[in-house]
This record gives sequence, C-alpha cells and structure tokens, in this order.
Amino acid sequence: MPLLRVALPTPLRRLFDYLPAKGQHLPQVGVRVQVPFGNRQLVGLVVELVEESSIPVSKLKAARDYLDKDPLFTREHLDFLLWVAGYYHQPAGEVISTALPALLRQGQALHPPQQPRWQLTDLGRETSPADLNRAPRQAALLEFLQLRPSPPLQKEILGAGFNLTQVRALEEKELVTSYLLPHKTQGVGLPALPQEEASPREVLAELPLQLTAEQEKVLTQLNDSLGHFQPHLLLGVTGSGKTEVYLQLIQKILERGEQALVLIPEIGLTPQTLSRFQKRFNRRVVALHSGMTDRERLNAWRSALEGKAGVVLGTRSAIFTPLPRLGAILVDEEHDASFKQQDKVRYQARDLAVLRGKREGVPVVLGSATPSLESLAHGLAGDYQLHHLTERPGQDVELPQPKLLDIRSRKLQGGFSEPLLKAMGQHLQAGNQVLVLLNRRGFAPVLFCSECGWIAGCKHCDARMTWHREPPKLHCHHCDTQQPLPPACPQCGHQPLQPLGSGTERAEETLQERFPDIPVIRIDRDAVKGRTALQEKLDQIFHARPGILLGTQMLAKGHHFPDVTLATLLDADHGLYSSDPRAMERTAQLLVQVAGRAGRAEKKGEVIIQTHHSDDPRLEKLCVAGYEALARDLLDERRQAHWPPFAYLALWRAEAPQAAQVEALMQALASQLRSLLAEQPEAVSLLGPVPAPMERRQGRYHMQLVLHAEKRAPLHRLLARVLLWMEAAPEAKKVRWSLDVDPDDLF
Ligand code: ADP
Ligand code: ZN
Ligand code: ZN
Repeated sequence: MPLLRVALPTPLRRLFDYLPAKGQHLPQVGVRVQVPFGNRQLVGLVVELVEESSIPVSKLKAARDYLDKDPLFTREHLDFLLWVAGYYHQPAGEVISTALPALLRQGQALHPPQQPRWQLTDLGRETSPADLNRAPRQAALLEFLQLRPSPPLQKEILGAGFNLTQVRALEEKELVTSYLLPHKTQGVGLPALPQEEASPREVLAELPLQLTAEQEKVLTQLNDSLGHFQPHLLLGVTGSGKTEVYLQLIQKILERGEQALVLIPEIGLTPQTLSRFQKRFNRRVVALHSGMTDRERLNAWRSALEGKAGVVLGTRSAIFTPLPRLGAILVDEEHDASFKQQDKVRYQARDLAVLRGKREGVPVVLGSATPSLESLAHGLAGDYQLHHLTERPGQDVELPQPKLLDIRSRKLQGGFSEPLLKAMGQHLQAGNQVLVLLNRRGFAPVLFCSECGWIAGCKHCDARMTWHREPPKLHCHHCDTQQPLPPACPQCGHQPLQPLGSGTERAEETLQERFPDIPVIRIDRDAVKGRTALQEKLDQIFHARPGILLGTQMLAKGHHFPDVTLATLLDADHGLYSSDPRAMERTAQLLVQVAGRAGRAEKKGEVIIQTHHSDDPRLEKLCVAGYEALARDLLDERRQAHWPPFAYLALWRAEAPQAAQVEALMQALASQLRSLLAEQPEAVSLLGPVPAPMERRQGRYHMQLVLHAEKRAPLHRLLARVLLWMEAAPEAKKVRWSLDVDPDDLF
C-alpha cells in the first residue's frame, strides 16, 4: 500500500510517514495534508509517495484530510526546498513552512471561500412582487432581482440593504437558487497562460527611457543570457540607472511569456517602488512583503503560482515563491543585510537566488553600488559576469568625494562639531536640504551619574539602557525592557543624571536650537510607526526647502532626495575597530549610501563624515579611490586570514537561564565534534566554545562555537553527523540552540 511521506513543521530533522486518509484518493506530491501528531493536528506537505516505511504499518497513523486538490509545488520546486533544508541543516518541514504564506500554513484553502450568486427560478421570474405583499422586504428583494440584468453576488444583495434571512425565505419559496462558479485553477507546471493579455492596457503609464551606451551594453549582455543559467554582478554607482536596466530586462522576460522574480531589501519595498514597476508593464506586478495582510500575501502568492503575475517583487522570503515560468531572478541592493534571515531557517536569500537560478536554468542578476565581498569575489574570479555602470544619466554633476572631518579634539554639541554645523548653515542658507545620518535612536545611549559614576544598565542583559525622551523612559534595545526614568541617582541620590553620547532625539533637539526656523524631519523606528507613516514623512521632506532630514539607516536606503546637497554621517567610527569581521564592509557600504544621497539632481553636493580616526587608511582609501578599491583590499585581508569568502563557517549558538547548562552542552558538543573529526581526515577547526559577545541577554546566558573549514563539503559532512548526536543529547534538552550556516555576523 502506498504511504505518504510528509514534511511537518517540527524541530525534528526528519520526514514522517502516514497512511492515506480513509476513503479518499491518493493525494499528489506537493499537496498539504492535515495529520495527527502526538495529541495535536498539524498541517504538513506530502513530499513523496513510498511503498515502505521503517516503522511497521500497524503503528502508522492515517492522514486526516487533504487540503489541496492540486499540488502547491512542482517536484522541481519541492526538490529545491529540500535542498535548502539539507544545506542549512534545518528540518524540511520548517523550510516548507517558511515557503508558504501564513494562511496556507494554518490550513486555509488556497482559494478564498467563494461568494454564491443568486438567480431567479422560472417561478421567481413569473411571480409578481405584489404577490408577496405580506412580506414587503421579500417583495422588494424579488423586484430587485427581477430588475437586475444578471444574477448578483450575495455580497451585492447584502450591500443593497437586504439580509440573508430574506434571501433564504425566497429560496424556501423556490423563487431563487444559488450557484458557485468553479475556480479556474491552472495547476502548477502548466505553461502560464498570459490571461491579463486578454485586455491589455494599450498605453503604458510610463515608457522605457533611452538607454545610455553603458546601460545598453549591460542590457544586451543580460538579454543574451536569458534562457540559461548565468549569474551577473551589476556594480553601478548610485543613480547610474540600474533599475532602468532591470525594467528593460523584465520587459524582455515578459515578452518571452515568462515571469520575473525581483528581490529587494525590507526597507526598499515602498509603494513608490511598486508603482514604478507597475507603470511599466501591462502584466500583473505583485508585491510580497511583511507589511501586507495575510490575505493580501496569499492572493499575491497564488497569482504567482498560477502564472498570472508577470513580476513578483518581494523581500527575502519571496525567493521561495513558486513560479511556473520563471525567466530570471534579480536581487537589488544585493549587499543588504535583510536578505539574511536571522532566526528559524537561517538562509541567505541572495545565495539561494543564485542556486535557484542554476537549478532552473535562468540568469540571476545581483545589483548594488556596494556589493558584498562574497559577490565581488565571484565577480572578480569570473564566476559571475561583472558589469560596471559608472555614469549617472541625466545628471551633469559627479558624485561628490566624501570629506573626513576629524573630531578628535573638538567639542561636540549633541554629536555635531562646530565646523559641521557651519557647513550645514551654508547649505540651508542656499535653500537646500541637508541629510544627517546617525545610526542610533533615542536621546542618548547612556544615562549616568556624574557624582558616583553609576550607569543605567539593563537587569537582563550585559548592556546599557538607552534614554528616550519621547515618551520619557529607559529602553534596552536588546531585550526590549522598558522602565521609567529614575528622578535621581539610585546609588547616591545625586541629580540630575547626565546623558552621554547622542541618539537621533538629541541630535534633533540640537538642530532645532541651532536652526530654529528650519524644519527638522526625523526618520527612525520611534518617529515612523504604522503603515503610512513613512510615506507621510517622505511627503513632508518633499516640501521642506530648506530643511534637515535626520535619521537612521532607514533614511539612507533607496529613497531619492533631489534637494539634498549636503549629506553627513555623524559617527563613522562604530565599524572601524569592531570585533565583527564584517564591520568595515558595512561601514563602507553605509558611507557610500550616504554619499549617494547628495547632489542627485543638477546640484553639486558635498559629503562630510565625522570621525575620530581621519588617518585610518581604509577610510582614506574609500574616500579617495572608492568602494571597489577598498573592497579589493578587504578581500585580500580576508584571503590572508582564511576567512569567508575564502573559507566556510558555521556558527552554533546556545542559550539557557543557567550558565552551567549552556556550558555543559557546548563542552559536550565540542568534544563530540573533536571525536568525529578524529575519524575525518579533512581539516575543520573549532573556534570556541566561548561566551557570546553579549553573554547575558534577556536574562539568559549565551555561548557560541564557530566551525571553520577551508572546504565546504567536509564541514557539511561533519554538521550532518553531529546533528544526529545533538538532537538526542540529554545536555541539549534544557538549552535553546541553533545552527547558522554561512553566518552573516558572529553575534
Ligand atoms: P539606480 O537604480 O542605479 O540608483 P535608477 O535606475 O533609479 O538608478 O536611475 C536614477 C535616475 O536616473 C532615475 O531618476 C532615472 O529615471 C534616471 N535614468 C536612468 N536611466 C536613464 C537614462 N537612460 N536616461 C535618462 N535618465 C535615466
Ligand atoms: Zn550617583
Ligand atoms: Zn536588556
């Protein structure tokens, strides 16, 4: 008898066998099933039909129900998801769960429940409303239906002021009947019928631009690669027209009857981005991101699955979207940290884009002004085709070269040095906008007592609490603990307490004092809450001339501010001497983004960076020679240090309320690894276990262990073997642990 092999969302890294549901046909691979699991019911996905199980058939339970008629995933797509599970050493059920919209995960139907239509019977057509004079509302409803040219949807009837009791009364009297239209399901794997083409919008809202010679050359090479696997890295300075190239490539893909998948960073998926794409094509363009309701997401996902959406524009998890006619995958701002998922299934969507492109035989385009060192290394080695866009079409001015402003011996006011404030004044005087980037929210990162040295720390973390002014409170940004501000020092009673350092709130206050007539528009997570808030702020910015735009990273990404002529980074030092090996790469990317905000239109811009280390050779290199030159140096450093992308890492994290519990597990893990390694000839080395950089967080103790290998395969072999031990280890029972393959950061 055939059995169902099912992937279930549980932490166990295995599949589960079930008997088919009683009295039903065998399901196809790729449909969801509801199954008993312990004393719960879970929604899983059939990944295989098998003849035999390692468990005796008499012990197997039967599936309760099948939730889909047609598969949600093709065999190929399912194999991709299973590959992902294998690569990241995560349970297949968790990966499949990540790939499904929430409503499908919860067991809801792929298609929304249908609205019935109500039509008159022969009797209903012949009956006069006057015959129903004892029930005036029923008479009115009958008349309403008789006057309609076609049977209305139930919701139209309700919308016209009738209720269901009245409809049912007419049904009782056999005056009306209801019917449902069948769903037009195309099933997966079938060629997508370009349904939208039936009524194409003749005129596009926006026409393609005339490309520059440089853009044209890149586009030709991208077009030439359609129909087979080819990774591309498009390194184009900010404003060089990368998006225009993407749009024209997508046009080609749509003309071939294929679908395009475009991944963009969390913060970049604004209504403007979406409408920029929608204006250019007369095929359906759908978005997939976390700001949508579950219903909206499901609708978008379904139209991708059914081939109705020509373009899917999504954040990282959109990489799992089933697309029957995939033509290419594009990843914009490919260096962005939001492509890495940091919990549960810890995948890197950019890496998966390349992998999926290879499996499906389509080109993959990674684009950025500041590519990740990984992608750049592939580009320089020739694995990816490397393209440059160096000019800024339609703009006469060059990107400004950033200037370093040393603040070592200067007094700062709310984070600003006097020369910086002076420069800002000049730009504002000329009627322009100034952009100030400060990657720290709140009023001040530290609250302290000048009398006894007391510092407000978090009870649950090895961290300081940030002082917020609006509303007034102390807030730990690591565990979210909030508490009221102490009126005086809890240690010695002295008051007032002093702020140390500046966050965006304090910078805002300083700017308002210094430039009382100039609007200061602040953009950070505290100032921008809710779905429409960012849009409102962006609209304000549009009218603020002169004006100051102040904010965190949120401000530096993706938006065009044509009136900004001075962009400034208040503190470049955070990344320079960090223990995080990626810190310099990140700092450089942020700096270049800030520089890209200045002088985007016809106005010449200026970029000023405050630092305590203006003689740092890496900062100098970046300012004088540019990102790619610095990135090549950083790659040389990585090569010499045998660090990614020239080696491979996996990071175990573990945490528990008691330090001893974590310690016991990590030591046991380390010794297990060492004994497995004794049988394995290839070199994998252990760094740790050591306490995590922030040992105590949310009241729990954190440790970590890094595995380092020159080659990928032996590392993965080792991981697979040690996981079998880990899942059964008694030491692991009380400890929360996770495995991060190719970690983005080591915290
Ligand atoms: P990027 O994605 O590289 O930052 P965009 O594609 O957003 O660049 O282009 C930046 C600006 O230049 C946009 O306003 C865009 O309309 C304009 N632009 C792009 N390509 C051209 C072109 N070939 N001719 C004129 N303007 C262009
Ligand atoms: Zn004190
Ligand atoms: Zn905390």
